Amino acid sequence: MDWLGLQLFAALPTSGQILLDCQHEPFLVSLAYVVVCAASFATLDMAERQSHSENPSARRQWRVLGACCLSGGIWAMHFISMLAFRAPLEIHYDVALTGLSLLLALFAAWLAMNSLDRRDMRPRHYLQAATCIGLGITLMHYVGMAALQTSAQQYYQTSLLLASLGIAIAASLVALLMARYFRNGSGTLHLVMKYGASLLMAAGIVGTHFTGMAAMTLVIPQGASLSLPTSDNSLQLGLTIACITLLISASSISAALADKKLQSKEHDLRRVSVLLSQLDQARVSLQQAAHYDALTNLINRRGFNQVFAERLADHAANESMLAVMFLDIDHFKRINDSLGHAAGDDLLKVIADHIKAATRSQDLVARFGGDEFCIVTSLNNRDEARHLALRIMQRMKDPIDLGGRRMVMTTSIGISIYPDDGRNTEELLKNADLALYQSKGCGRNNLNFFNTGLRTRATLELQLEEELRVALLEERGLCVHYQPIFDLHTGQVAKLEALVRWQHPQHGLLGPDRFIGIAEANGLIADLDLWVLRRACEDLAQLNRHGYANLKVTVNCSALTLGREELPADVEMALLLAGLAPWQLELEVTENALMGDIHRVINLLKRIRGQGVALSIDDFGTGYSSLAYLKRLPLDVLKIDRSFIQDVPASQKDREIVQAIIMMAHTLHLQVVTEGVETVEQHEFLAAHGCDYLQGYLLSRPVPLADLRPVLERLDRQDSDFIACADTAVPGSPDLFADSPGYRAGASIARRGH
Ligand code: C2E
Ligand code: CA
Ligand code: CA
Repeated sequence: MDWLGLQLFAALPTSGQILLDCQHEPFLVSLAYVVVCAASFATLDMAERQSHSENPSARRQWRVLGACCLSGGIWAMHFISMLAFRAPLEIHYDVALTGLSLLLALFAAWLAMNSLDRRDMRPRHYLQAATCIGLGITLMHYVGMAALQTSAQQYYQTSLLLASLGIAIAASLVALLMARYFRNGSGTLHLVMKYGASLLMAAGIVGTHFTGMAAMTLVIPQGASLSLPTSDNSLQLGLTIACITLLISASSISAALADKKLQSKEHDLRRVSVLLSQLDQARVSLQQAAHYDALTNLINRRGFNQVFAERLADHAANESMLAVMFLDIDHFKRINDSLGHAAGDDLLKVIADHIKAATRSQDLVARFGGDEFCIVTSLNNRDEARHLALRIMQRMKDPIDLGGRRMVMTTSIGISIYPDDGRNTEELLKNADLALYQSKGCGRNNLNFFNTGLRTRATLELQLEEELRVALLEERGLCVHYQPIFDLHTGQVAKLEALVRWQHPQHGLLGPDRFIGIAEANGLIADLDLWVLRRACEDLAQLNRHGYANLKVTVNCSALTLGREELPADVEMALLLAGLAPWQLELEVTENALMGDIHRVINLLKRIRGQGVALSIDDFGTGYSSLAYLKRLPLDVLKIDRSFIQDVPASQKDREIVQAIIMMAHTLHLQVVTEGVETVEQHEFLAAHGCDYLQGYLLSRPVPLADLRPVLERLDRQDSDFIACADTAVPGSPDLFADSPGYRAGASIARRGH
């Protein structure tokens, strides 16, 4: 077959002269290989860049550059190799065909770069692309060979021709695979492998060329004249083409390198900006967590401090008023203790909603932790603060369904006003807290404004706390007074209630109301109660030795003391040290002390009662205990609170309540003590309705141990006119006693009785 003057798939002619003296110049062959190696490396680089560019126009640029590098490399290799070809002939090149061969090389290279741009390459795609590229390269080679114009004719051996095509296709396939593989990766190993791949690719291309050359036999036709080569400038030409191609490859590689650096910088920048935005987000959520309370979504103390400082600055600028309200949920601890913390949390959420609903949108509402809330509101006058506080208190009384129960909560509020009660956050919060303390102190479910008296009291309390600590430590100043409890059945004093007093060096004799609260708030109460317990036991032992063998002593026990596991052991030790029998001691606990963890409390009380010590429930009717509670508790005595007897017998309602309590207690097999009995009428009423014991100023006020004997003797005379002698029974503090209306009433009735 004659194709562009080439004899393909044709047998050698029978006539003519075969040129055997054909060689290749080794230097130029090596140069051709170097050139194609550089071009292969550059092409792999371009392919890598092409795949890393996100911009479509940049991808196109790299594709064009890659195609130029590869086609230039292949073509230059071919051309230099041809220049290396030495035959005893004069050789010319057909420019048009040479140009066409260059175009074919360009086409094959473009095809290669194009297939590398595919996102998803399957084996089928590789084979198709490799076949096309291989065909293109082979075509380029044979067109290039056709451009060779000599007096000889080119005959091609079929097997080697096909082998050259096979090598071209195989080389293209390997090149595609490698180019694909080297798109990603970095480091020295990657670079070394890329060098190896370039050498291999170049070897494939050179292999195609030289297999094609091996397939060629030059035959000088019969009768043709043999023109020998005249001048040989092939070395200069080869070097020039090599230089140009190498220059193109080198500049492409440097462009790729620069782009790579730029892209990695861009990438770094993008990463930095992503990191920065992530950091920003983290900061925002951290700030959210740091400034907001997760449970109620209200701002927390930290957030409050920040916002409040800004509000204060605003109000300072226009000299307007501001109220700071401290809010504490009454007896919240009981909910936590009895219904669990999850219920407590639910309750706090509802309460937060109640507060929000009662306030205006511009008011600042914060949760400081636990059941403490703080509200800041702008005002025109003090009354606005009072109205808001009342609104909150009212709202708080809306029934709340919690854990299958319906409950009503109340709240105590303390208010301080800017600028009257303080000009900075700290001062205003402290003063609102003092006002809250006052609200809690006067029975809760209350609101109070700050006043300077509170500050004076707080300072005094602080001082008292210090002094009480010392007094307890040095056992100095504290003493116990005893108030008789009269048995209505025997007509004799059966028990003495131990009531603590503090002989203060400056303030004189202080009653427990002045310092029990301080002791409870500062962790001193357990020591104080224990001290009273021991002293009471010792004093009763002394009375025993003086002939009062049947007396019992009752000792008050605070809720906090009841929380101590060591209490049964302390009681046992106090009895042992004083040498008393357990039946001679009775512990008085208030209803509220029995709330909280009821199982634990019952367990503790049972241990104490198991020792033989009696237990009484104090101030009955003022707390929250239910009948169900009472039934479960291991009790012996119930003390009706003074408030129920105050208006007896005048108030019919109170008379009925007292009667009902006595009946209920007896049903539960509890003995009944009524405290605060101040008049004979009260005495008579209680005696008539089955009360077991009486305690009150009518019989005697609490007196020191030293003054107790005459009181006991008087009361034990079992004479109803003991009341007449009441005034002689108070030698300790006649003023105090004389001031008591109960005393006056009792005394006048007694006198009438005479
Ligand atoms: P309480 O246990 O209810 O004690 C009875 C209080 O009522 C005593 O006040 C007593 O003086 C007073 N009182 C008795 N009869 C009458 C009366 O006819 N009319 C009036 N108006 N009052 C009467 P006191 O001694 O001031 O004690 C107050 C509270 O302090 C006690 O109430 C008790 O809860 C607590 N307390 C006293 N001593 C101790 C103690 O050692 N430990 C603990 N934890 N608390 C104590
Ligand atoms: Ca008591
Ligand atoms: Ca009481």
